[in-house]
Amino acid sequence: MEKRFIYADNAATTAVSEEVLEAMLPYFRTGYGNASSIYKLGRDAQKAVETSREKVAKALGADPREIYFTSCGSESDNWAIKGTAELMAKKGKKHIVTSVFEHHAVLHTTEYLEKHGFEVTYVPVSDKGLIDPQDVKNAIREDTALVTIMYANNEIGTIQPIEEIAAICHEKGVLFHTDAVQAVGHVDIDVHRQGIDMLSLSGHKIHAQKGIGALYVRKGLILPNLIHGGGQERGKRAGTENVPAIVGLGVAIESATKNIAEKAAVITPRRNRLIDGILKLPYTRLNGDRDKRLPGNLNISIEGIEGESLLLMLDMNGICASSGSACTSGSLDPSHVLLSLGLEHAVAHGSMRLSIEEDVTDEDVDYILEVVPKVVERLRAMSPVWEKMMKGQKYE
Ligand code: PLP
Repeated sequence: MEKRFIYADNAATTAVSEEVLEAMLPYFRTGYGNASSIYKLGRDAQKAVETSREKVAKALGADPREIYFTSCGSESDNWAIKGTAELMAKKGKKHIVTSVFEHHAVLHTTEYLEKHGFEVTYVPVSDKGLIDPQDVKNAIREDTALVTIMYANNEIGTIQPIEEIAAICHEKGVLFHTDAVQAVGHVDIDVHRQGIDMLSLSGHKIHAQKGIGALYVRKGLILPNLIHGGGQERGKRAGTENVPAIVGLGVAIESATKNIAEKAAVITPRRNRLIDGILKLPYTRLNGDRDKRLPGNLNISIEGIEGESLLLMLDMNGICASSGSACTSGSLDPSHVLLSLGLEHAVAHGSMRLSIEEDVTDEDVDYILEVVPKVVERLRAMSPVWEKMMKGQKYE
C-alpha cells in the first residue's frame, strides 16, 4: 500500500483556495490603500470591501447593510451574545438559552455572562446529537434576552432544526442567534426566510484565510459597538479594514455556496462508505445522527483505544484527522460534545472525526479504510483497556 497524504480535517480549517489567493494578492501588492482614504487607492479598497459585503450578504440571503466583518467566528459569537446581553439587560432581560454542546466561543461567553449577573439555561441534546425545539420553547422565560443555538455541530456535524427554533423565538418575542461557522457552504442558508436575527461565520472554514469572519445582524437590531475608535463597519467595529482578507472571504463564500447540492452529492457517498467501513470494526459507534449531519462529517468512537494515539498513527500514515477528545484547554477531559450524547468517558476518549471535502477521492477512501483497521488493531493489541474488555472486566 503506497502512502498517501489525505487532509480529512476541514472542520478544523481549510486550505486557502487558489481563486481566493489570486483575488487577495492585488490588495497586498498594488491595491494597498486604506479603505478610509479619499484618493483613488483608498476608494478602490473601499469598493472592494463593499463588493465583498454584497457577496457575503447574497450568500446568506441578507442585505449588505446587515453584514459586519470581524476577525473570526469567535469574535462574531462574542459580539452577538455579549452585545445582545448588554442591550437586553437594559430592559430587565438577563436570561439566555443555549445548548450544552455549543462551541466554546459560545459556552465560554455565556459562562462569562453568568459571572456578571445573567442566568443561562443549557438545553440538552439527544443521544443522536439533535436539539428538540420543544426544549428550547420550554426554556424560554419572560426575561429571556437571547436564544443562541449552533447551526451544525463542529465535532459530530449534526444539523439542528434552526428554522423551527427561530420560529419559536419569534413567537415568544426573543432574539435568535446561530453559530453557523460549520454550516456555511455546506447547507443552504437564507437568514431572512429562516427568521435568523444574528448569524456568525468564519472564513477559514470555507477556504478563505484564518483571521476573517462576519456577523449578520438583522436590520433594526442595533447591537452595541464592539470596538470603539474610527468609523469602520458603520462605527460598530473600529479598526482599519483587513482588505485582502475581506476580499478573500467574499470570493470564498460565493464559491462555497454556489453548488452546495452538487458537492454534497459527491461527498456524502464517500462519507457513508467511510462510516460503513469503519463501523465494521467491533465495538465502534457513529456519533451523531446518520442523516441529519454535514455531508463531509463522520465521528466514530472506537472502544479500547485512545483517540490521540490513533491520530498520531494516522498522521504517520499521511492522514490528517481529529479526535473527539481533543483537549483544547490542555486538560485531559473528553469532549463536552461527546459526553453530552451520553457517552462514557472511556468511549469518548477513543473517538475520531474525519471531515472531508470533494478532494478526498474514492481511492483515498479505500486507503483510509485500509489504514484505520490496521492501526486500530495495533493500538488495541497494546491497550490494557481492550484487554480488560475482552476478558469481560469493567474498565474505567
Ligand atoms: N464556532 C464553531 C462551531 C466552530 O467550529 C469554530 C471553529 O472551530 C468557531 C466557532 C470559532 O471560529 P474561529 O476559529 O474563526 O474563531
